[in-house]
Amino acid sequence: MKLVTLEGAETFIDDPLISGFKDSVQCEVLSQGESGYNESRVIYNGMFDIKPALIVRTITVDDVVKTVNFARDNNILLAVKGGGHSVAGKCLSPGGITIDLRLMNGVYVDPEARIARVGGGTLLGEMDKATQAYGLAAPSGIVSDTGVAGLTLGAGFGWIRAKYGLSIDNLLSVNIVTADGQFRHASASENEDLFWAVRGGSGNFGVVTTFEFRLHPVGPELMFSGPMYPAENAKTIITKWREFMMGAPDEFSSMVIMMTVPELDTFPKEIQGRDAIMLGGVHCGSVEEGEKFIKPLREFGELLFDLSGPKKYTEIQSMFDSPLPQGSLICYFTSLYLETFNDEVVDTLIESFGKRPAKLVPFVVQDLRGASMRVRSQKTAFGERSAPYLLEINSAWLDPKDSESNIAWTRENMDKFKSFSSGRTYLNHSGLNEEGEALVKRTYGSNYERLRQIKKKYDPGNLFRLNQNIPPA
Ligand SMILES: Cc1cc2nc3c(=O)[nH]c(=O)nc-3n(C[C@H](O)[C@H](O)[C@H](O)COP(=O)(O)OP(=O)(O)OC[C@H]3O[C@@H](n4cnc5c(N)ncnc54)[C@H](O)[C@@H]3O)c2cc1C
Repeated sequence: MKLVTLEGAETFIDDPLISGFKDSVQCEVLSQGESGYNESRVIYNGMFDIKPALIVRTITVDDVVKTVNFARDNNILLAVKGGGHSVAGKCLSPGGITIDLRLMNGVYVDPEARIARVGGGTLLGEMDKATQAYGLAAPSGIVSDTGVAGLTLGAGFGWIRAKYGLSIDNLLSVNIVTADGQFRHASASENEDLFWAVRGGSGNFGVVTTFEFRLHPVGPELMFSGPMYPAENAKTIITKWREFMMGAPDEFSSMVIMMTVPELDTFPKEIQGRDAIMLGGVHCGSVEEGEKFIKPLREFGELLFDLSGPKKYTEIQSMFDSPLPQGSLICYFTSLYLETFNDEVVDTLIESFGKRPAKLVPFVVQDLRGASMRVRSQKTAFGERSAPYLLEINSAWLDPKDSESNIAWTRENMDKFKSFSSGRTYLNHSGLNEEGEALVKRTYGSNYERLRQIKKKYDPGNLFRLNQNIPPA
């Protein structure tokens, strides 16, 4: 069988060796043409048509260990797929081996201890459903079919961030298969270096088979803020939101969502297709408190529509899901931490928003104040947390012919904000990783060298390289 090596060259592996590997695992090992192969390689970003030589749909830790050993011993390019939301398509290995963890999606909740153990292939919606059965939640992201794994290993920004922090701030331990094929437990008291590194260090250190999270009482109903204003009034609305957020308590996490109103039944026909500014937010207190708190946000001007109201946490967690099947949208998402959101930034943002060619996903500005910002940058590998805003310039379209111009437009427009930023990016949201090591180094800052040392200890051959790669020291 022809496979691609870690260095990107072609190699041939004898059929008996491949058969031996297939016989050694308990799960399906799929190649092109086999039933399930195409389903398994569908990912969120429809830009890619990546064909791994083998997709290993692991169901046990032992399957993961055997696959890691096989890839390492034969020097084969290895990818790890959780929820498949990597915009850069790094969860699939072109011509190599992909570990698809999707079947390892069990969620075990201990409501007394307020802990959840979550399989490496679990989606956010699956985790939320299981934890909300007990009125509990672990902070995660805002789109329910995102993978817990990729999101958590990169940080995890979501609707209860200001109150409870990022996903990594609530991670208690991981079970992980490292490049030497060892199954390890990493926590604050065991393999502490590895535990530090996986909290923000992306998929560099091994295959996480279980995440253990601290849970918090959340909902089941919370007040959602969703007033939508016409984009013509963007300047007034955004600056008022900025002032309002200066005094907001940790209970309230919020973001400006700059969108074209989609053609969905949720919205009246007459506003579909119009550009709008939504002041999205979730209040973690009682619904009554939340309603009172968000009232001013709903009175900043004449409304286009208002999605505000008490909603189940699980409903809020899927409000921004795409109505299209995975792989339909072609997308390029970028981000930048902003040191300021002054009037010049607001004006530049509104101008870019008005001219954007690809309108199927929103631009977003998150106010990062609250619990997640108070964690020291050395505490987790994720690094510096001093920037008060995260800007996301996102583009999505349907026709592959538009890809080149839309990517170029998005890059150019993001560049306009660089002088308002230290140049750090949310690595889970960083285009197609085209900046490579320079961006990774800049983003991890003073944590970078330590990450390289830990990478050397656990993955000296850089087996796990299809990610925001940290080269071993
Ligand atoms: C529509 C959309 C919405 C998003 N919303 C948010 C949001 O609200 N908040 C937020 O913080 N981020 C968000 N993101 C970014 C998201 O966190 C990243 O794309 C993340 O990588 C997705 O994880 P995944 O498991 O779905 O991805 P995958 O593509 O499966 O994995 C991404 C990478 O993670 C690594 N990986 C995956 N699983 C494992 C594992 N078990 N062990 C080791 N490594 C693994 C691999 O290196 C892989 O290349 C969003 C992305 C999209 C496309």
